[in-house]
Amino acid sequence: MKNFDVVIVGGGTAGLMLARELGKLKHKVLILDRKKNLLEFSFNTLGSFLKVEDFGLSENVIAQKIDTAAIHSKYFKHNIKGEAFILDKKLVHKELLDSLDMKYVTIQLQTNIKKIYKDSKGRYTSIEDKNGNKYEAKIFVDASGTVGVLSKIEGLREKNVDFAPGVEYNVKYLGKPTDAHLYFGKELKGGYAWIFPLKNKRAIVGFGSVDAGMFKNLKNTLNDFIESPRIKKLVVKDNNFIEGGSLPITPVLDNFVKQNLVCVGDSVSQVNPIVGEGYKFIFEAAIMASKAISKSLEQNSLDCLFEYEDVWRKRFLANYKRSKIAQKRVVKLSNSDFLSNLAMLILLKLRPNYKNVNSLSGEY
Ligand SMILES: Cc1cc2nc3c(=O)[nH]c(=O)nc-3n(C[C@H](O)[C@H](O)[C@H](O)COP(=O)(O)OP(=O)(O)OC[C@H]3O[C@@H](n4cnc5c(N)ncnc54)[C@H](O)[C@@H]3O)c2cc1C
Repeated sequence: MKNFDVVIVGGGTAGLMLARELGKLKHKVLILDRKKNLLEFSFNTLGSFLKVEDFGLSENVIAQKIDTAAIHSKYFKHNIKGEAFILDKKLVHKELLDSLDMKYVTIQLQTNIKKIYKDSKGRYTSIEDKNGNKYEAKIFVDASGTVGVLSKIEGLREKNVDFAPGVEYNVKYLGKPTDAHLYFGKELKGGYAWIFPLKNKRAIVGFGSVDAGMFKNLKNTLNDFIESPRIKKLVVKDNNFIEGGSLPITPVLDNFVKQNLVCVGDSVSQVNPIVGEGYKFIFEAAIMASKAISKSLEQNSLDCLFEYEDVWRKRFLANYKRSKIAQKRVVKLSNSDFLSNLAMLILLKLRPNYKNVNSLSGEY
């Protein structure tokens, strides 16, 4: 086995972006992933405020440009004007994979990591997969998403994580291609729904909830929602193929580094709470982590790794706290039509547009 500078567990959003940046800086990286194919996902569409060019991606990954987010309560609708994007997840990950410098980055699939070992000083020495194979490196990264295989063992994430599951269908779309729709109110039983337009008169319609009791009812609630008269004007369900997954909504602990272990992405709840946008925030975090890891390797000092936490806190912590408060309010409002209509009138309609855009994008 080659001598790696960094072993990354997980070749998803965070792992690929981090590997790309470390490869550019000529560090030897091994990505280990339990999947057979890094381009197979349980859902394929993303809503995002990220600018693709900021992260070295081409416009080909954009499934649809959005200029309006229409927020719907039972009786009111309010349009928030601003640029956003619906991204094709497979194309985003394909471009990331294609941009890896394979002179420096090695990918090994079907490798399910289970354990991490440390020496008497607490420094991590190797990780082990379920077949007992060990992998050594100077620095280990947990980018294993909601599994958080190393972050959980090492206490950088709470053991019991709260999840917000979501389900979605790809459907025929009758609305304006540049309008995305977000719904909340009592008919959604404390959850929220969305319609993300795609090209060719298609759209994604989805439903998510932060209420653990709703987990089993997600599909039925989404089916009922699609059948409601106001939604029928916008989408026609022409297949039964359902996609979905779960977001971590446990508050970020903002400790991402322990000795020579670094965590990025959903493994440490870095997804922004307000609309569950992960990509923009996780890409930025991965780039921050890559800089600290590179400096640490060059200076042979683990202290440099903590610069990643410092930079992250300065950029994101206050925003995350505000988004978390906003998320709790949205959940409360969503349980009552009276409150959701009132919030629509007072919070959204009376505030200037730019403030609403800031709240939605998690940037204040
Ligand atoms: C239903 C849903 C809708 C979403 N919608 C949006 C959206 O619209 N916009 C947006 O920006 N974000 C969205 N997100 C959030 C976003 O997808 C995540 O925040 C982001 O993908 C997390 O990236 P990650 O790299 O941390 O984890 P992942 O991308 O999940 O990658 C983790 C990788 O680790 C691997 N792995 C796990 N355990 C192990 C192990 N033990 N050993 C080896 N490999 C392992 C997995 O196979 C996987 O490839 C959504 C999430 C869900 C679930």
